[in-house]
Amino acid sequence: MAEVTLENVNKSYGGVPALTDVSLSIADGAFVVFVGPSGCGKSTLLRSIAGLEGIQSGKIFIGGKDVTETAPSDRDVAMVFQSYALYPHMSVRQNVEFGMKVNKVPPEERERRIAEAGRILQLEEYLDRKPSQLSGGQRQRVAIGRAIVKDPKVFLFDEPLSNLDAKLRIQMRIELEALHKQLGATMIYVTHDQVEAMTMADTIVVLNEGRVEQVGAPLELYHNPRTEFVAGFIGSPAMNFLDRKQLGKKGADKLDKKTVRIGIRPEHVQITGAGKGALDVTVAVKEQLGGESYLYVRNGDYDNIVVKTDGDDKTPSGAKIGLAFPKERLHQFDASGLSIEQS
Ligand code: ADP
Repeated sequence: MAEVTLENVNKSYGGVPALTDVSLSIADGAFVVFVGPSGCGKSTLLRSIAGLEGIQSGKIFIGGKDVTETAPSDRDVAMVFQSYALYPHMSVRQNVEFGMKVNKVPPEERERRIAEAGRILQLEEYLDRKPSQLSGGQRQRVAIGRAIVKDPKVFLFDEPLSNLDAKLRIQMRIELEALHKQLGATMIYVTHDQVEAMTMADTIVVLNEGRVEQVGAPLELYHNPRTEFVAGFIGSPAMNFLDRKQLGKKGADKLDKKTVRIGIRPEHVQITGAGKGALDVTVAVKEQLGGESYLYVRNGDYDNIVVKTDGDDKTPSGAKIGLAFPKERLHQFDASGLSIEQS
């Protein structure tokens, strides 16, 4: 168990920055998720913590120890990859045992740890199978088992669930959360999927073009995004953004002087009669998911505002409606994309 601290980490590839001035403090036992769009530097950051990438400047501490120049094998971390990276010719047991053999862990201790990992991950009946005889979810569990038996201070997960189908992803998500509770270890998890981040993390780190955009608890980021970028990235369907000048007088009179754009989440837009809200629109498409419905609405200025309503909402496609934006649900952003604090 250990805390992880990064101080002003910079990393570039051939002069192109991949991480810029990243400073983070990850508490002992935390489940931290690095999230952001493809190419924002998530994997590079994780691999830098693992020691698989060298950094140009800055410092990395694990458990209070400066590991910036330390080899990956001496950092006391275990990494789980999206690709599983299992040896195909070895059984599950041999795959899980391999690293311990290399590290000269005594045989009885190896047996004990394999049995324990097998129990935690419900792999006991598969220990003699080859990876090709397992499902994707079981293979990923073996990869996690290999990490568990190292008894690392920190677990590092690089998009571990991306190769699984949607149903299995949800199941594995829950298993990983349970595993975290059971082991109490520090876990750092990379994903581009904001739903995974929201559901698993106790702290989310949003990255944008190699910089830390915001750090916070999932609901903190949902309710108080500091920038338009975070506001648009966290939450599904994504937040709607509207320009102040296109809002009309009725819609804009309650805004801060500095506000250039407003954001409102699909679940917070209210439907009114035409002419009664801040904006009149036409329902272009209606998607009914059963428990909820999405209205894709437009007018001359906007072609894609999303409104989330009840599953039994009766608004038909083609209807002309008004939209109201409750003030307490509005996010206001200035010209630079920074949130304007609302009192
Ligand atoms: P993410 O994991 O968020 O998708 P990465 O950390 O993989 O992003 O990449 C961050 C940036 O660094 C990207 O612009 C990517 O193209 C670049 N990059 C990553 N690995 C290498 C590499 N080995 N050589 C050159 N550029 C790289």
